[in-house]
Amino acid sequence: MKKYSALKGTQDILPPDIHIWQKVEKVAKDVFTAYGFQELRAPIIESTDIFIRSIGETTDIVEKEMYTFSDKAGRSITLRPEGTAPIVRCYVENHLYNLPSPQKFFYSGPMFRHERPQAGRFRQFFQIGAEAFGIGEPKIDAEILSMLKLFFERLGLKGLNFQVNSIGCEKCRPDYRNALVNFFSDRINGLCPDCKRRFEYNPLRILDCKVDACIKLREGTPRVTDFLCSECSEHFNKLLSLLNLLNVPYVINPDMVRGLDYYTRTTFEITSKQLGAQNAVAAGGRYDRLVEDFGGPPTPAIGFAIGMERITALVKSSCKETIPVPEVFIATIGESAEKEGLVIADKLRNKGIWVEIGYAGNSLKSQLRKADRLSAHYVLIIGDDEIAAGKLKWKRLSDGTRGEIPFNEVYNFFN
Ligand code: ATP
Ligand code: MG
Repeated sequence: MKKYSALKGTQDILPPDIHIWQKVEKVAKDVFTAYGFQELRAPIIESTDIFIRSIGETTDIVEKEMYTFSDKAGRSITLRPEGTAPIVRCYVENHLYNLPSPQKFFYSGPMFRHERPQAGRFRQFFQIGAEAFGIGEPKIDAEILSMLKLFFERLGLKGLNFQVNSIGCEKCRPDYRNALVNFFSDRINGLCPDCKRRFEYNPLRILDCKVDACIKLREGTPRVTDFLCSECSEHFNKLLSLLNLLNVPYVINPDMVRGLDYYTRTTFEITSKQLGAQNAVAAGGRYDRLVEDFGGPPTPAIGFAIGMERITALVKSSCKETIPVPEVFIATIGESAEKEGLVIADKLRNKGIWVEIGYAGNSLKSQLRKADRLSAHYVLIIGDDEIAAGKLKWKRLSDGTRGEIPFNEVYNFFN
């Protein structure tokens, strides 16, 4: 028989790990909702040009990592490599800019990038992200970082490093670009082939290259923060003072330019020392031009995405998660008890209580063994004697406490 296996760089997420995933998703939803973000679900497939246009032609994602194919009508379709471009497309297409600003959304789901799979790096990976449209003031940048801080706190994660930077706007970027061109012009021979091309088209991208030789040649690169125009510099300084006000600890990382072209001004990355090479658990920034580039009115915006595989790995290693177990196991002996048990199970389940029952006429002993294996909190035992007496037996497995209750009171026994 042919053996089937999941594609390289993809994985199945099974119990008990799934409980950690669900916990992270719930915490994200609760925290983001408190900050006024509403869920938005956009498609997983989009027109390829949406990504090329926004992420940028000389980025790793567009150059190497997209899952792009032609559909039956010959249209070029791409499995989304990230969530911002689809949300911006959706925002513009649905005229959401006509609603009172800010409009704040969160999303979650799989993203696809054809990268080399390794620890913390997959080809299908999940992100939870958020985007806020319509506010140019640094107040919202600070709120978003503070929201992320709360999210990590609620998950019990400590020791995360908040790195922030400003990469300027279209006004100050040209000066910085020139400075980079000057800097790299006598080092160009040592750069990797990709960076040689980047030098021509988008020298900022050299700063994001992961090739060792390029990392070495970057030593002493001019710092973007030294080239900010007065507005960008004021925005950045205000952000830093608001982060102080909100007790969000941060470090300025002037080398962080991020791997996507659409960013302007604020960029940030949250990293963990516990994760090894793939250490970024969340990242984002401002993209004040993107809505306009997609045909909408000028609309400043900011967003981020959290990497689920990396967050769940941290949660798994740093907190003892309790795995959910059944509340009740119903063990029955004989046919009429089995029917009675089925009815009770149904009613308790109707109250939202997790109930398991014995199957296929197993002996009482083997049913009790099963209840034990499942770590059920309570076992209910029903046989002919119990039916005749109108009472069933219960036992709490944690301490062996036992007793009897009339059939009609069993529903109030559990809450
Ligand atoms: P990295 O530096 O790790 O390549 P990135 O800058 O490409 O990250 P973003 O596009 O900003 O990542 O995505 C935000 C987050 O999504 C990252 O911080 C990371 O946690 C997660 N992420 C990105 N790519 C992958 C991947 N291939 N597998 C798993 N998680 C990923
Ligand atoms: Mg990457």
